[in-house]
Amino acid sequence: MADLIEQLRGIVGDKGLVLNEDLAGRGAGYRHPDKTLVAKVLVRPGSTEEVSQILKLCNGAGQPVVSQGGLTGLVDGNIAAPDEVILSLERMREFEEIDHASATMTIQAGATLQSVQEAADDAGFFFPLDLGGRGSATLGGNISTNAGGNRVLRYGMARDMVLGLEAVQADGTVLSSLNKIIKDNAGYNLKHMFIGSEGTLGVVTRLVLRLRPKPASQQTAYLALDEFDKLPQLLNFCNSRSGGCLSAFEVMWRDYFELVLSTPGAAQPLPADYPFYVLMEVMGGDPEADADRFQDMLADALEKGLLVDAVIAKSEGERQAMWALRDDVESLRRWGPTVGFDVGLPIAAMPDYLEEIDQPILARWPERRRAVFGHLGDGNLHIAYAVGENGADTKKIIDDAVYLPLASRGGSVSAEHGIGLSKRDYLEVSRSAAEIGLMRQLKTMMDPNNILNPGKIF
Ligand code: ZN
Repeated sequence: MADLIEQLRGIVGDKGLVLNEDLAGRGAGYRHPDKTLVAKVLVRPGSTEEVSQILKLCNGAGQPVVSQGGLTGLVDGNIAAPDEVILSLERMREFEEIDHASATMTIQAGATLQSVQEAADDAGFFFPLDLGGRGSATLGGNISTNAGGNRVLRYGMARDMVLGLEAVQADGTVLSSLNKIIKDNAGYNLKHMFIGSEGTLGVVTRLVLRLRPKPASQQTAYLALDEFDKLPQLLNFCNSRSGGCLSAFEVMWRDYFELVLSTPGAAQPLPADYPFYVLMEVMGGDPEADADRFQDMLADALEKGLLVDAVIAKSEGERQAMWALRDDVESLRRWGPTVGFDVGLPIAAMPDYLEEIDQPILARWPERRRAVFGHLGDGNLHIAYAVGENGADTKKIIDDAVYLPLASRGGSVSAEHGIGLSKRDYLEVSRSAAEIGLMRQLKTMMDPNNILNPGKIF
């Protein structure tokens, strides 16, 4: 072991290694606030060439490597064991280029999401990927998990924002495809092998990101509805009326809305006695006219009976307070231990699904608490259960209740967080034996010694 660490030191120097008490002084991330990192060593390369040498060395030694970004992941895809090497790109955060003509930004993958958003803004563009962990989450992590977030409805997932990338394969081979063009059908598009594969097929080192025009106006409102069936009708109506400029359609069931309203200092945009709430946002290009159009659209929706109550943000402060309500997932901690999910399923199947999963849980824990919210336009629900106890057995009962009914509905056990370790046992709910077989073949071919994030996904 000393040998391997000395060889790593030869590649990255002293400043590129974090060992022993320095390692133990680092937190284990969002999901494990009371733990510290464990690993054989944390290695911090300063260039793609160093990443290549590290992987070549570890591949030769059969040494497992776990790549870590900002540790904001929610499925333990980034957890390392004491005998594993952690690879962190925290020294690779350079902004290499903004190409105004192509509307692209080329960066090293250790850059944080927030720094990328800010750099895009400074350059007069918009980078639409956004999620709660933006301050710590790195682009490398966002790409390896194909992160979703609140604006998928209009701009797609992380995958849709990457034009080109550079990745290092398990044996140290550098695959550089820093493409800047939107249309590129020259054979297999290999970048997708590295996007969403959770660090199991390679390490992404550099990215060419697609930038978007900066929206000139943002209209935001809270809406209340009295029936589930009106949610997709309202979504379609507003999508059509806003000319495709609808950028968020976040739905909250009353149980979640009540919970976030009870956070001290929370905004109170609407009374809490409606069954469904929507946080809607339209990003437009005409600040003068957009506000009137937005108001007219909501007035028409009200007249058609699609919604029963609405309040529009009148200032940037009100807009932010509305989003803070939606994003207040921390409020769930007040319920004690909770089990959280990010399932995907067709909108029409949601009411029946939610009723079915609740039956076995209610039967066992009549006092159970539940919160449901999510990105309805993307077919993505977040569900949280608190039953007053935790532990492996409890989690298994709740996991089974929530995941298994997805199979018959063509649903996904992970709409946006990934599989990692947490959902490994349920991959087959959403993927056929043939699909998992091909995934395994790809893994074996691209990483024959199984050194890249071993044991994650399957
Ligand atoms: Zn989400």
